[in-house]
Amino acid sequence: MNLISDMSEVRSQFPILERILPNGKKLIYLDNAATSQKPYFVINAMNEYYSKYNSNVHRAVHALAGEATEAFELARKSVANWFGLPSGGMVLFTSGTTDALNLCALGWAKVNLSSGDAIVLTEMEHHSNIVPWQMLAKEKNLELRWVDVDSETYQLDLDDFKSKINGAKLACIIHTSNVLGTRNPVEKLVEMAHDSGAKIILDCAQAAAHEKLDMSKINADFLAVTSHKMCGPTGIGALLISPGIFEQMEPIQGGGDMITEVFKEYSNFQENEHKFEAGTPRIAEAIGWSAAINWMQKLDMNAAHQHTLMLAKNAAEGLKKIPGIKVYGDHSNDDVSGVVSFLHESLHAEDIAHMLDSMGIAVRTGHHCAQPLMRRLGVTSTNRASFYFYNTIEESNAFVDAVKSIVERFT
Ligand code: PMP
Repeated sequence: MNLISDMSEVRSQFPILERILPNGKKLIYLDNAATSQKPYFVINAMNEYYSKYNSNVHRAVHALAGEATEAFELARKSVANWFGLPSGGMVLFTSGTTDALNLCALGWAKVNLSSGDAIVLTEMEHHSNIVPWQMLAKEKNLELRWVDVDSETYQLDLDDFKSKINGAKLACIIHTSNVLGTRNPVEKLVEMAHDSGAKIILDCAQAAAHEKLDMSKINADFLAVTSHKMCGPTGIGALLISPGIFEQMEPIQGGGDMITEVFKEYSNFQENEHKFEAGTPRIAEAIGWSAAINWMQKLDMNAAHQHTLMLAKNAAEGLKKIPGIKVYGDHSNDDVSGVVSFLHESLHAEDIAHMLDSMGIAVRTGHHCAQPLMRRLGVTSTNRASFYFYNTIEESNAFVDAVKSIVERFT
């Protein structure tokens, strides 16, 4: 799909973009970093599963079970292919990025780290890449080391990373910030972590929506990804693991499907991905995610991202011209996502969001699950408009005009 010339065709595939809100305003959806919208292709694939071959997987021999199992395991293959999983690597389905990070903490780090070992985090992390490590650190007496974020350039301090990674066992790093849009130099960070003998997990919740991640090139030990920010359904994501990691992990949940045999005294576990997927898995969601991947395969991801960047840059430039507004994040280069965080010096972020909502414009407000970063920036919350490839320049301009009119009216 050529995005620019086929924009109306692209938008027509997302039914929600035509939504008229209860106040009569047409929706302008700029909360894509929280979750993206879904095309018919995904909605229909899930609908088809539920209406034509809904069944549990892996267990029964009947026709529907066969169809459902095939579609579910095919979804795993689509995810593996899309993310360039190296051969011997594995896709462990989870409920999302948060669940994937927790699985890494409990299934790998809990088993492989010991008292006194150090984990490196950054001040840019989302809470889901902080709290699991704090909980584990408390339980196992681990040290957490924090890498600084420069509050002027909005970049990670790489010298600080270099010194903190020294002697550490694991680095847990956000690939692309959900607040600043900053895309961290992950390839370099992976190399630095490996050079010092540490493993590295990347939180790719935001990144996977904007670029075609290739795990075999990134070379990280773990990627945590989610479906719902890349046009797929909520409720599913994955921990992608490099070859050799599976053998070092222990399951964190017991139950059906993850065992080969159960005795009164003990159980034997599966030796494949199912070992980490106790109980009925997320069947419809896996099928929906796979449909999203198939749909995105037809999209020129690079052109899509350039379009998103153009909208975000346009909004950032427009906002900067409004008296009293500060934009957080450096939109002057291309290593950013479609996120534009901003704050007015006297108007409350929540009030701005309510007023934008009354105009049909959906943005996010708050600490964005990144309180350590908020503290580094010296704020408690920001407004955040986040663009995606189906947004238009008219929407970007309408958003800037709306903020301008609010500021003019209330200051
Ligand atoms: N990390 C980042 C950077 C995020 O933006 C989000 C979603 N807000 C998460 C983790 C959590 O992802 P999920 O909703 O898939 O659990």
